[in-house]
Amino acid sequence: MIITIDGPAGSGKSTAARKLAARLELPYLDTGAMYRAIAYQVLREGVDPGDPEAVVRLAGSMDLQLDCGPTHTRVKVNGHDVSEAIRGMEVSGVSSQIARLPRIRALLVKKQQAIGAELESLVTEGRDQGAVVFPDAEVKFVLDASLEKRAQRRYEELVADGDDADIARVQEALSTRDSSDAVEWTPLLEPGAAVRIDTSRLTISQVVERLRAHIRQLTGEKRDRSDC
Ligand code: C5P
Repeated sequence: MIITIDGPAGSGKSTAARKLAARLELPYLDTGAMYRAIAYQVLREGVDPGDPEAVVRLAGSMDLQLDCGPTHTRVKVNGHDVSEAIRGMEVSGVSSQIARLPRIRALLVKKQQAIGAELESLVTEGRDQGAVVFPDAEVKFVLDASLEKRAQRRYEELVADGDDADIARVQEALSTRDSSDAVEWTPLLEPGAAVRIDTSRLTISQVVERLRAHIRQLTGEKRDRSDC
């Protein structure tokens, strides 16, 4: 079974996807981590993110490996584990910039589809998973939340990671990333194709419970019998 969870940064999709995957004992694929890994390498090698040829060349020469466990996606670039290093705000901004490049998208979409074909069942999260990468997925969700709430969550994550974050800057960066992400490559799912959940007023447990309830309804309790 392929379950897609799409939504903007801070919508709660990563935590929800991880918890759902753990509960269902399925591999978890964080596709944002793949864009982040390329952005990280762009920064590390001093490549100009505004130079499509250079970015595509670098991405094509990188060895990008993913380990999709049920509670994490660990990412290796050229043999080095960059799973934590790719989480900073600078990498976030550049990942959004390079995600606009059609050749980068094509490369990563192909990689994600190969992972899906190999694993057969997984929980995958991103922006385009239900519409582009896995259009035939059995279950599709879209999560969203207000900009203020998403900024608050991202700020708390950064502080928890020991970053000296400023909430106004975090909100501004998210808003810029929203505009950058809301371009033609973010196709909308057909109305009714996905279950949409506004997570602004929900706790993570409530979000996961809604996801599970929907899956139980679809699969007749086959996959998920235990309680949260
Ligand atoms: O989800 P996350 O914030 O880690 O994603 C980082 C960036 O990667 C996003 O801002 C978006 O530009 C890009 N992305 C994408 N398609 C995906 C996942 C992420 O374009 N499936």
